[in-house]
Amino acid sequence: MRNTQQSKAAFAEAKEYMPGGVNSPVRSFANVGGNPLFIARGEGSKIYDIDGNEYIDYVGSWGPMVVGHAHPQVVKALQEAVTHGTSYGAPTLLETELAKLVQSVYPSIEVIRMVNSGTEATMSALRLARGYTGRDKIVKFIGCYHGHSDSLLVSAGSGMATFGVPSSPGVTKGTAADTIAVPYNDEDAIRSVMEREGDRIAAVIIEPVAGNMGLVLPRQGYLSLLRELTEKHGALLIFDEVMCGFRASLGGAQAAYGIRPDLTCLGKIIGGGLPVAAYGGRREIMDRVSPAGPIYQAGTLSGNPLAMTAGIETLKILTAEPEEGKADYSRELTIQTKNLLLGWQRAAKDAGVPICAHQAGSMFGIFFIDREVYDYADAETADQDAFRIWFDTMLDEGIYLAPSQFETLFLSGAHTAEDIERTIAAAEKGFAAVK
Ligand code: PLP
Repeated sequence: MRNTQQSKAAFAEAKEYMPGGVNSPVRSFANVGGNPLFIARGEGSKIYDIDGNEYIDYVGSWGPMVVGHAHPQVVKALQEAVTHGTSYGAPTLLETELAKLVQSVYPSIEVIRMVNSGTEATMSALRLARGYTGRDKIVKFIGCYHGHSDSLLVSAGSGMATFGVPSSPGVTKGTAADTIAVPYNDEDAIRSVMEREGDRIAAVIIEPVAGNMGLVLPRQGYLSLLRELTEKHGALLIFDEVMCGFRASLGGAQAAYGIRPDLTCLGKIIGGGLPVAAYGGRREIMDRVSPAGPIYQAGTLSGNPLAMTAGIETLKILTAEPEEGKADYSRELTIQTKNLLLGWQRAAKDAGVPICAHQAGSMFGIFFIDREVYDYADAETADQDAFRIWFDTMLDEGIYLAPSQFETLFLSGAHTAEDIERTIAAAEKGFAAVK
C-alpha cells in the first residue's frame, strides 16, 4: 500500500470547510470507498500527490489536459500573458484568435460565444434554442450529463449516476416537466417522442459520443436520425461536445460521424486547463444572442485573457502540421489509445474477466460486463464491485483513473509508450485481483 497519510489528513480538514470535502462531487472518491488524493503538481503524463507519490494520469482534469500537464508552450505563454494583467472586461485580440482556431476545425460553428464552464455553455445554448424557436420543451438522453443547470439535471450521468441521484432535488417540477429524457441509442423512443411532441420541442441535446455513463458510442445511423427528425419537426439539434470535442476526432464527433448540428457546445480542451467553454453554430441562430439579438447571456470573466491564452496554445499544438512522416497529433493519440485498450482487452481475456471496452479517438473506457453497452440501463448493470477492486489495484500500482465506471478516461500527447506498457502491466494485476 502507498503512504497517503498527508492526503488523508488534508481530506479530514477539507471536510470541515467544504461539502463532502470537495468542490466537485466525483473528486471525493466516495464511490470507491477511498480517500481522494490531494494533488501537488502535474508534469506531462504524471501527477504527484502531497505525499510525494507519482501517478500516470488518465483523468487529465476530466478531459482538458490533452497536451499533458504543464506543457512548456502553454506555461510559457501563460507566464508572459499574466504580466499584462489578468482581466479587463473589455474585448481582446485573443478572443478572435481562439474563435478562428475553433472554427478552423469546427466549420459548423460560424459564430461563437465564449463562456466559463460547460454548464454555462449548454444552459445558454438551451435558452437560445428556446428563444429562437419560441418553444419550451427540450429532449435529452438518459445518462448524458450536460452540466448542472436545472433543465439538464434530469436523468443525468457522471456524478449523478455515480451517486445514484440522476435527478436532483431542488429542480422544480415545472422545469423538469419541460425536459423529456429518452434512452440513448433507442431509435423508436426518439421517433415516438418527436411524433408526439415535435412541434413543442425547442431542441434535442445530446453528447454525440457519450462520456458520462462511461464511454458509450452512438449506434450507426443514430445521429443522422436525430438530424433528420429535428429538421422535420423544426427543433434545433445541439451537440454537446464539451467532452468529445477535439477528442472523438480533431473536429469532434461531428467530423467523425459527418453530422452538422445547429449548435455545438465546447469546453474542457478549449481552455487548456483554465475555465473556458463556448457555444456556437449557425450565424442566423447565434445572431439572436445579445447584443446582436434579444436573448441575454453575459459573463464578467468570459473570454478571460489568461484562459484564452491557454486555449489558443493548446489548440495550436493540436492543429499543428505534423512533422515529415508522422501522423498528426490527434491521429497519434488515437493510435496510442488503441494500443492501451488492446493491452487491457488482452489482459482481461487472459485473466478470464469479461469487459466491454470502448474508444473514441483519445477517449476510452471499460465496463465490467459480458456484453455490449448501448445505453445507461446497460451501463448500470456493469459490475461495480469488480470495478472497485480493479480501481484500487490500479491506484496502488500508480495509475490514476476516474473513480467511477460512469466516467471516461483520457490520453494525452505526453503519455509515452513506456507509460502505456506500465499501465497494461498494472491492469494485468488489476484483472487478476478481480478474478
Ligand atoms: N457537458 C459535458 C458533456 C460534460 O462532460 C460536462 C462536464 O463534465 C459538462 C457539460 C459540464 O461542464 P463543466 O463541468 O465545465 O460545467
